[in-house]
Amino acid sequence: MERIPLPLSAAAPIPGDSRGAPSFDGRPGVADRFGRALRDLRISVTDRCNFRCPYCMPAEVFGRDFAFLPHDQVLTFEEIERLARIFVGLGVGKLRITGGEPLVRRDLPLLIASLSSISSPDGSPVDLTLTTNGSALRPLARPLARAGLGRITVSVDSLDDAVARSMNGVDFPISRVLDGIAAAREAGLSPIKINTVVRRGLNEASVMPLARWARDEGLILRFIEYMDVGTANGWRLDDVVSAEEILSMIDAELPLEAVSANYRGEVAGRYRYRDGSGELGVIASVTRPFCGDCTRARLSADGHLYTCLFAARGTDLKTPLRDGESDTELEDRIRAVWAVRADRYSELRSEATDRLPKVEMFALGG
Ligand code: SF4
Repeated sequence: MERIPLPLSAAAPIPGDSRGAPSFDGRPGVADRFGRALRDLRISVTDRCNFRCPYCMPAEVFGRDFAFLPHDQVLTFEEIERLARIFVGLGVGKLRITGGEPLVRRDLPLLIASLSSISSPDGSPVDLTLTTNGSALRPLARPLARAGLGRITVSVDSLDDAVARSMNGVDFPISRVLDGIAAAREAGLSPIKINTVVRRGLNEASVMPLARWARDEGLILRFIEYMDVGTANGWRLDDVVSAEEILSMIDAELPLEAVSANYRGEVAGRYRYRDGSGELGVIASVTRPFCGDCTRARLSADGHLYTCLFAARGTDLKTPLRDGESDTELEDRIRAVWAVRADRYSELRSEATDRLPKVEMFALGG
């Protein structure tokens, strides 16, 4: 495999720059070794999933009898809310609920209700969103919206039913996911974003139909380059359909122009259709790494803090929490972890990094 060149990312971090979060985006908070602020927390509420997507949880490795976390090892809603409040106090302004598949966690609207009551130290509301495979959206979209969820992201890897069924690994019909998206719209969730992982040989032919559909439906589509997450998806660089390829495919039929990010640290590169009919994004971790502005932390369902999607280990917050640590002590723990953070996996991706014992994506919330 050819070594991926080390790009000179515009925001190349200066080692040891700890002038604090304000120098990152003008807001208070904590900064890591490269001056990146802690702004986004992805909260995995379960490691369980009813799908077996080959790029995340291939069925041949994670069979139907795969042993997920025992119930008593999973954070309770009260524990999640308590930790979320501490992270928000440290400068987090966005909470994303993930899994596994978050909608398989019972009574999830109760957690949404408690998280939606959290506001930032300056009183501004926290941006609360959720990523789902859409399989249970029809019954849950309205209760989630009523509980305080404002917007949502749904994974759709193809509109072609046969391709979708092979990409979810459990023969689940795409029509039910599309019906879930309709339910989200009826419930007033907005915007609705669509995530599509593109893997060569599986769904690159789905790119154009998805782009036309999302444009016509007013959905914000984000194409994601296939990544070497975890240790089980058999990732090869040859199977990556690059952002360049995806954009030129679309631009040939529906001319695009680049637009600036909504905020520093936004993951997707944004583009809009020149005819003004909407926008899309590309998340290009392989060919256009964005570690220089990465503001994301991850809290796993068993209460470990991870500072990178490709982390090999995390920091246990559950045990000190259950052992009675105060909020201030837990806050100090989180602050200490973030302050020494120096992750930039995607910028250093190589054969060597590929062999690292990375934690599975479904276990740390994508
Ligand atoms: S590879 Fe790690 S450090 Fe880089 S953008 Fe992804 S999560 Fe952030």
